[in-house]
Amino acid sequence: DGFLSVEEGQTRVLVPAENDAKIPTASVSVFYNPEMEMNRDINVAVTSVFVRRLAERKGFEKSNIRYLDAFSASGIRGLRIANEVGISVVLNDIKPEAVELIQKNIFEIGLQNAVAVCEDANVLLCREKFAIVDIDPFGTPSPFLDAAAMSATFLLGVTATDTAPLCGAHLKSGIRKYAAVPLNNEFHSEMGLRILLGSIARETAKFDKGILPLLSHATRHYVRVYAEILHGAGRADQTLQNIGFLAWCPACQNRETKTGLAVFMNEKCVCGSNRKIAGPLWLGPLRDELFCADVIDELDNGRLTLNKKEPARKLVEACKNEADIPFFYDEHLFCEELKISAPPIEPFLERLRDAGYVATRTHFSGTSFKTDAPVDEIKRK
Ligand code: SAM
Repeated sequence: DGFLSVEEGQTRVLVPAENDAKIPTASVSVFYNPEMEMNRDINVAVTSVFVRRLAERKGFEKSNIRYLDAFSASGIRGLRIANEVGISVVLNDIKPEAVELIQKNIFEIGLQNAVAVCEDANVLLCREKFAIVDIDPFGTPSPFLDAAAMSATFLLGVTATDTAPLCGAHLKSGIRKYAAVPLNNEFHSEMGLRILLGSIARETAKFDKGILPLLSHATRHYVRVYAEILHGAGRADQTLQNIGFLAWCPACQNRETKTGLAVFMNEKCVCGSNRKIAGPLWLGPLRDELFCADVIDELDNGRLTLNKKEPARKLVEACKNEADIPFFYDEHLFCEELKISAPPIEPFLERLRDAGYVATRTHFSGTSFKTDAPVDEIKRK
């Protein structure tokens, strides 16, 4: 009857059969992208851990915690949360065909804790507060960040698929959307994540709220952030101390970061080349290590059944173990410059650690690493 039944986690959902096409497009009547399954798996695990914390710390009953899936399409994100985490979920989409399908799916699964609404996300977000707000629009989340920051009381989840503006490939578009200047270089994926986090921090600060990034990752064509909301002007001020600027030398790879309304006194790098400036962006931690450990534990020992459990686990583990240092290096770039073949990355990082530096791999790519060692020292190792 024109539908395809798909199963993710423990939830079976109907999506229009047009989604069978290999490349999902925004032009189908109701959108479903199987490539986002791992993103939704991690979302289930993160929400499950976060809800348990809310219950333990604030004594909240699950049924009193409201989750808004503001851009639902088939509803698969929010339906999975209602079914697999068990909190109250509001599923919203501006398209009536989507809302009809969501209602059908709520009925088919037999959920009592989910309702579907048909509104412009910004209208709904401005009118009502939700404990957890999930923003998953087509492309850029920027037109919805203000209202989402106002609405979210405990957790804000944001997916951005506009990696070209975020990463500096579409520079002017990125400046318009995020009021920040990115750099399109070898660490552009981390640049995108930090530009988005900086923008979220500034949007929430307006409402006297701070953020604590619990988990953020850049995965191929999208960026995803989970930010806990902290209440009060003081927390907002503290959060803004993580915003700053980067001066980067394209010639020798040297970097300098400064928080606050930074002015770099010297446009020149120590090597004599001109530096490039990026910002304002987030220079604070990308994740909370203990929270990530709980998510990994949930993936290992929780009652979640996931098709993409291993890749999800690997990704969260990599985020947890990654050093809190803004901007990774790419091993291949150094090797090209030194005209050597790339040495195995683990022993190389070990040599940096033996010399007293912090050195870890990152979740951004297999050849990337983070260290507080100066560039010259990296080259010597
Ligand atoms: N969350 C879905 C999932 O995981 O499968 C995918 C959502 S899809 C990327 C974006 C959805 O947002 C579309 O279904 C579209 O109809 C809807 N949409 C676009 N603009 C909207 C707006 N202003 N308010 C609410 N929904 C909107």
